[in-house]
Amino acid sequence: MIDLHTHTDRSDGSTAPEDLVRQAVAEGLQALGIADHDTLAGYEAAGPAAAACGLELICAVELSTRPNECRQPGKRERSVHVLGYWLLEPPTTEFRCWLETQQASRRRRNVDLLTKLRELGVSITLEDAEVYGRNQVGRPHIARVLCDKGYVSTIQEAFDVYLADEAKAAVERDEPTLEEGIRLIQESGGMSSLAHPVRLPQRGADLFRLVQRLVEAGLQGIEVHHSEHSPADCAEYAEIARRFDLIPTGGSDFHGDNKPGIRLGHGINGNAMLPYSFLEQMWEQCTVKRH
Ligand code: AMP
Ligand code: FE
Ligand code: FE
Ligand code: ZN
Repeated sequence: MIDLHTHTDRSDGSTAPEDLVRQAVAEGLQALGIADHDTLAGYEAAGPAAAACGLELICAVELSTRPNECRQPGKRERSVHVLGYWLLEPPTTEFRCWLETQQASRRRRNVDLLTKLRELGVSITLEDAEVYGRNQVGRPHIARVLCDKGYVSTIQEAFDVYLADEAKAAVERDEPTLEEGIRLIQESGGMSSLAHPVRLPQRGADLFRLVQRLVEAGLQGIEVHHSEHSPADCAEYAEIARRFDLIPTGGSDFHGDNKPGIRLGHGINGNAMLPYSFLEQMWEQCTVKRH
């Protein structure tokens, strides 16, 4: 069994990289993809532990992009995530530098977001959020603090009222376009995959048009299996993979306690369980595409 889409506490998961490795072994996994948001820190920290217990670790990343350049302030299109697998190790200097710019953009965003919250009478500090986000504070961590301090009663309410793109404390930050994200992964030696397509607003013909555009930009894969995908979703995305010659990828999108209900290597009620042969097929198709 494998899980190719997991997060550690170096982005918005709650599990330390070494603990994630131990948990993966306990779940009987043979391969683990750590795909933290805009950072390789979790993957790098997990290396020694994985080597010690013979777990195959896949160097991955999940980039946050926007479908198009934002031309009108306050009118951003919904964020789209792109996964990258088998990135060059060590990463190219360009990719490392680019990841640094994303960290810096997130840090600036967080300062501005907390200022906006204060103006709305919500007083939390960066230190509060750093308790949850050790390497990188993201909005899910800020949401947890808003819950802890009683400003809202659920994480979702924190997003709906304050943190969502169109909510009261929303702050825009520099993010790559979808095409840039795909290109960055390609230039870093990786294979790109459109993450959890179920979260895209497009279905049917609209989705075909988007995927066609992305294939032209170099997209190589699509996440067919994901804990948020129903059997019907999986069938739809598998069909898209066939039609556009994209490599099916999959994983649970495990975030530990930050997304309760998703089990490592399993997903929700076993909907993201994948055999090792799935990874072998991915690799084979990837090799074919490169020649
Ligand atoms: P960040 O990377 O800090 O901008 O946070 C993005 C993460 O926040 C996403 O990966 C989601 O997990 C979560 N998120 C963003 N928008 C929403 C929303 N409207 N409702 C719930 N969660 C959201
Ligand atoms: Fe996440
Ligand atoms: Fe994602
Ligand atoms: Zn993810």
